[in-house]
Amino acid sequence: MKRKALLIAAALAGAAVNATAQSGDLSVEPLVEPESKTIKANVGKKANEIEKAKIIESLQEIRKDPTTVQFHSAMCYDMVMPPPDTTFACPYCGNTAQYPTRSFAGKVADWMPSIERTLALCKVKIEADYSDFCPKCRKDTAQPRSLKFVSYCLDCGEKFNWSASGEKEVEQLTLLALKFPIKEVDQGEKGSMKIEPEKLSRYISDRFLCPKCREKHGLK
Ligand SMILES: [Zn+2]
Ligand SMILES: [Zn+2]
Repeated sequence: MKRKALLIAAALAGAAVNATAQSGDLSVEPLVEPESKTIKANVGKKANEIEKAKIIESLQEIRKDPTTVQFHSAMCYDMVMPPPDTTFACPYCGNTAQYPTRSFAGKVADWMPSIERTLALCKVKIEADYSDFCPKCRKDTAQPRSLKFVSYCLDCGEKFNWSASGEKEVEQLTLLALKFPIKEVDQGEKGSMKIEPEKLSRYISDRFLCPKCREKHGLK
């Protein structure tokens, strides 16, 4: 258990280092803010004014005509059988929990480092809250587990919440790290499309812009 926690910590630190290297700032920030349920990996360079305009323009263009984006999928050669269970190491309290590898909770446990890398690459500040997956930190056991997010609106900076529940929604998160203007999308494995082309702009708008700014830019 310790080993896995360390591996995840190392992977997260790696993401933070990569992201800070991009922004030219070499200081590595602590992974978890004290007294906070937020992992500090969102140190990647966020959009400046010119980039903001470019992102909004690209989203508007795709909304009008999704065929401007090339969607392709790669064959998957991953034939390795995963172990039946995997360990979730809580980044907040250090507790661990075992989940079936193929379950939603198991995927979140295994993908946590790559989710953090994706968020660090996003042009908008987005923070993930994994507490639903820790038996100790989970607040509402009556609700099904979900991965919760806070986005800071690209345009006005206002915070808003959204969540991902289910494996497909976690896979879709990589769409948030696409380069703007978006010209192509890797749909992942054949047969498990991440997103329908006509839904791409809305997917990103709903996670990059607050409801008011979506309306303002015709991206509702
Ligand atoms: Zn915990
Ligand atoms: Zn806004």
